[in-house]
Amino acid sequence: AAKQLARGSLAFYDQAMAEAVRRRLALSSLLRQALQSEAFELYYQPQYRVADGQLVGAEALLRWQHEGQFIPPAEFIPVAEESSLIYELGFWVLRHACDQAVQWLAQGLPLHSLSVNVSARQFHHPDFMERLASILAQSALAPHRLMLEITESVVLENLPETLARMAQLKQMGLRLSIDDFGTGYSSLAYLKDLPVDEVKLDRSFITRLAFDHKDRVMVSGIITLAQVMGFKVTAEGVEEAGQLAVLHALGCHQFQGYLRSRPLPADEFVRRLAQTD
Ligand code: C2E
Ligand code: MG
Ligand code: MG
Ligand code: MG
Repeated sequence: AAKQLARGSLAFYDQAMAEAVRRRLALSSLLRQALQSEAFELYYQPQYRVADGQLVGAEALLRWQHEGQFIPPAEFIPVAEESSLIYELGFWVLRHACDQAVQWLAQGLPLHSLSVNVSARQFHHPDFMERLASILAQSALAPHRLMLEITESVVLENLPETLARMAQLKQMGLRLSIDDFGTGYSSLAYLKDLPVDEVKLDRSFITRLAFDHKDRVMVSGIITLAQVMGFKVTAEGVEEAGQLAVLHALGCHQFQGYLRSRPLPADEFVRRLAQTD
């Protein structure tokens, strides 16, 4: 009976797997069409200085609407990463973000910095530097306005190559950020060698920050470490005033989160920007 049960649950498991595979295949072909039909859009989540609440920049976040429904990036980015789609998608994001930033700056709006997420496969692609340089040249965006967000896993995948690439990017005048900092396996050993400008504190550190003493000590440690290394710290996913108060007390530089704003479509973000001096 136990054997039968195991076989039964295995069959169920197989079915669930098959279903998941089907869904990914379907998504991947939809993604291909979406790229051609310009079904993607960038949203912009404002970033604020902790000390005075001033809007200082934004993170561009990809949005895909399919048949009136938003499909979350957490679902379609991994699918795109399984194929070469991620390159086209990633460069689409960079091109649009740069063009948009140039347009806002030309209108005299105070956008100090625009952050763009770069996936691991895109970052390590042989043509990455060349295509990035060409996008920058075409948009004529001052490189120091652009911050590339790279996750910890990217760094660890191939440390020597990553360091070389990062140095090149810095030489081009771009700024670099380690996204979801503290969630990978990594950190301290290599951190001192990275030519980055910012680390982003993952939301998982922020959630219980106002209540959990250990989280508070960890965040405090990361901020101190970052200060010594000369990085800025941006906290992600700040939803409550209590969390912001702790970040303020600990000397965190910047934050983003629902407390002040969700990611916004371009026209709404630009209204926020216009109210900023
Ligand atoms: P991420 O780069 O860590 O982005 C932060 C995520 O947290 C975003 O989710 C944002 O909407 C969400 N968020 C911001 N504030 C809050 C808050 O106060 N509370 C909560 N609960 N969530 C908050 P989103 O837009 O769904 O993106 C998820 C992930 O997908 C991103 O994580 C990033 O890794 C990836 N992604 C998004 N856009 C792109 C893109 O253009 N290229 C690449 N390669 N990845 C992207
Ligand atoms: Mg990010
Ligand atoms: Mg992040
Ligand atoms: Mg995160």
